[in-house]
Order: sequence, then structure tokens, then C-alpha cells
Amino acid sequence: MSTDCDIIINGGGMVGSALACLLADSGLSIVILESNLPPGDKKASKDIRVSALTLATKNIFDSIDVWQSVSHAKNPPAPIMEMQIWDAGSSGQIHFDSAEIGEPCLGYIASNQKVLDSLYTRIKRSSNIKIKFDCVLKDYKISQDQVAVLTEAGATITASLLIGADGASSRVRTIAGLENHGWPYNQTAIVATVESEKQHNNTAWQRFLPTGPLAFLPLADLQQTSIVWSADTAYANELLQLNDADFKETLGQKFENRLGEIKNVGPRNGFPLTLAHAELYTDERLALIGDAAHRMHPLAGQGVNMGLLDAAVLAEIIQGHSEQGRDFGKNFRLKAYTRWRKHDNQLMLMATDGFKRVFGINQPMLNNIRGQGMNFVSGLPPLRRSMMRLASGMASGIITGMTGNLPRAALSSTSSRW
Ligand SMILES: Cc1cc2nc3c(=O)[nH]c(=O)nc-3n(C[C@H](O)[C@H](O)[C@H](O)COP(=O)(O)OP(=O)(O)OC[C@H]3O[C@@H](n4cnc5c(N)ncnc54)[C@H](O)[C@@H]3O)c2cc1C
Repeated sequence: MSTDCDIIINGGGMVGSALACLLADSGLSIVILESNLPPGDKKASKDIRVSALTLATKNIFDSIDVWQSVSHAKNPPAPIMEMQIWDAGSSGQIHFDSAEIGEPCLGYIASNQKVLDSLYTRIKRSSNIKIKFDCVLKDYKISQDQVAVLTEAGATITASLLIGADGASSRVRTIAGLENHGWPYNQTAIVATVESEKQHNNTAWQRFLPTGPLAFLPLADLQQTSIVWSADTAYANELLQLNDADFKETLGQKFENRLGEIKNVGPRNGFPLTLAHAELYTDERLALIGDAAHRMHPLAGQGVNMGLLDAAVLAEIIQGHSEQGRDFGKNFRLKAYTRWRKHDNQLMLMATDGFKRVFGINQPMLNNIRGQGMNFVSGLPPLRRSMMRLASGMASGIITGMTGNLPRAALSSTSSRW
């Protein structure tokens, strides 16, 4: 049966847009539906956050010719050369240095909006990808040979496959009735840009407080960092309501003034935090990627990185079947994507949830054990190096620490040595 296009991607966020770019040379026709207004529109909502991007993500962006535009002079990504992590409740601390694993950095801090704008620019260059802004998926129907999507404006578009890249409240997932397990953390992450007295030296800093982690992430300007302060929601609301002077004072204290006095703080925004994991990632003519499939605590800065790995794996599988003339919308073929990604996503969800819980404990004896554990990891070079490779995204298995599970787009020519 002929369809209007081969693939519909619902959601043109970072993950959905990257998937389209990964399929740009596949010869498949792709339509992205995005509820936000086009980027040039003054009323379009902007993402004010930054993301810690792993080396695997940089490789993916390199492979689709997007990294160059992300790195463009105005507001370029800042390399993370070192990480300092310490515990407010004990003497525990860990120091990571990228030199120890022979890499120039462990990852990058980049503006979400700049990444998205770079992906949209790449999409514009592809004649086989169309993006429809201000377009909301309302419903869809799956039949033997196709999926028919109905938009809120009343248009119908048919395709062989529908991809839900529509974020944590995914309508695609909800309509499919795919179960989504998880819980709210009752925490809110406060995000703001901060200027401090001392330079950050391209170090990412994170202090674990009993109320949640406080991170200072380096930006291109050496005096500026983006903070992600996750705190129990009642406390976060108090912090959001403080005047600038009181907020700067409290922030400096909680961070032990590691970068000297906090000189300036930009507008503060709060993001509620939840954990969620879809029971199934695929169904007949349907697949979920990114936050539509899994949502995790931002303390390890891995949510979008895991989503981009989903996109790279799914693109590799779709392209493989398409080249052989096979129907890639069949669930028995799509299940290979779940087998490849679900385990790694599950481990990351468990690890971030585990860290959140362990650091949320505030009892002297347990604090002491936690501190000793951190100092043990920090003092053991092979374990420390394994953790750095995991954080950089270039090891996909906690036990093996090997790159064997990474999709081709995430590998660079030098990464095979792990
Ligand atoms: C405070 C905070 C800090 C974070 N820091 C990091 C970090 O440092 N590193 C990291 O890897 N991750 C981080 N994350 C996680 C990361 O932001 C998410 O994992 C990522 O944004 C998910 O991308 P996505 O494209 O899957 O979903 P989204 O960004 O939610 O995009 C979904 C898109 O779908 C569109 N949409 C929704 N419904 C419809 C519909 N019905 N029809 C059409 N379009 C629709 C939306 O407009 C949106 O553009 C952080 C998260 C938070 C909250």
C-alpha cells in the first residue's frame, strides 16, 4: 500500500530531530510533527537549559554534520576536562580528570536551544525530511500496512512507521496504551546561569546535599556556569522565591564557595523531576525514543544522551531493513531496537535513582560508609577510569566497560580501543 511518507516522527525535540538527521541519507521520506512554533517565531518557546553531552553524543552529531554548527563561535560548547564531586554529609569526594583516560575532555556543556537550532538547520538541507511546526498529533490508527496520523488541525498523514519522540508525556505512548512505570521524585531542578569570582577551569562541580545535588556546569565564558540545583520541591520553591541577593548568598554557602563569591545570577526556572520507563518500546508500526521511553533524574546528565543512543540504534536498524527491501514497521523487526537499548537504559535509570537515594540519606553512620565508598572509588585507578568512560558515554556496559553495544554513529575511529 502506498503511504504519504515512510516515517512520521512525532516530536521535533533534540531526540526526534536527531533521528530524522540520522536517516537523512537513507532515501526514506520523513515527516516530523512538532507542536512548538517555528524557531524564528517570537512566540516559540525556547529551552533555556544546557546539557552535558557525552563523547558518544558528539560522535553522533559529527556523523550527521551537526557538531560543527553546534561548535560555531557564538556560545560554543564548553569542554568538561575535570569533574569534582563531593558529599555534604561526609568527607567523601571523587576527582575525575580526562587526561587519565587519554581524552581531551569527558564531554561538553552545550545550550539545548543551540543544539536544536543546529539540528533544524541540518533538516532544512535534506529534501527527504519535512518538519511541520505548530502541528499537534491528535490521534492515530494502525492497520495491517500503515499508520494513519490525525493532527489537531484535521489533516491525515499515512506512513509505514510512527515514532513517538514526544517527550515524557508522550501522546503516542498514551494512545498505544503502553505501560509507563515510575514515580515523581518530589524534587524540582532549579536552572540558572551564574557568574562567579573565580574561573571554573572547565571543571564540572557537583555537591551532594541531603536535599538533592547541586551542580555547577562550565560554560564557554570561564567565569560563567549553569547551575542545576535539584532540591525537594518545597525547599526548591522557597529558593525560587528568594530575591537575587539572598539566592546568591545561599547558593554560595551550599556550594562552599568553591568558585569564590557568586557575582551574578540570571533568571531562575524550575523543572519537576520524575523517573519513568515504558514497559515496551515498540508495537506494530510504532516505536518510542528519548524521554517518551524513559525519563531519569538529571544528576548524571544522561537523559538526552541515552535518547540520542536510542535514535542512533533505531536509525541503524531501520536503514538495515530498508536497504534489504524489508518492511521495517513490523514489530518483530522493531523488537531488535528494544533488545539493544532497554537494558542499558534500565541500568542508567537504576544508577541515577540509586545515587539519588543513597545521597538523600542523612544518618551519621551511613554518611560515613557512603564517604568511604566515594573515597575508595576515587583511590582505585581502574575503577575511576571505568567510571569516567561510562560518564563520557564511550562504554555502554557497567560490567564490561566495552563499546561493543554502541551504534555505529556513536563510535569514532579512536574509540574501538576500549
Ligand atoms: C533540569 C534538567 C537538566 C537536564 N540536564 C541534562 C544533561 O545535562 N544531559 C542530558 O543528557 N540530559 C539532561 N536532561 C534530560 C534531557 O533534557 C531530556 O532527556 C531531553 O530533553 C529529552 O529530549 P526528547 O527530544 O526526548 O524530549 P523533549 O525535549 O521533551 O521533546 C519532545 C518534543 O515533542 C513535542 N511534542 C510533544 N507532544 C507533541 C504532540 N502531541 N504533537 C507534536 N509534538 C509534540 C514537544 O514540543 C517537544 O519539542 C535534563 C533534564 C532536566 C529536567
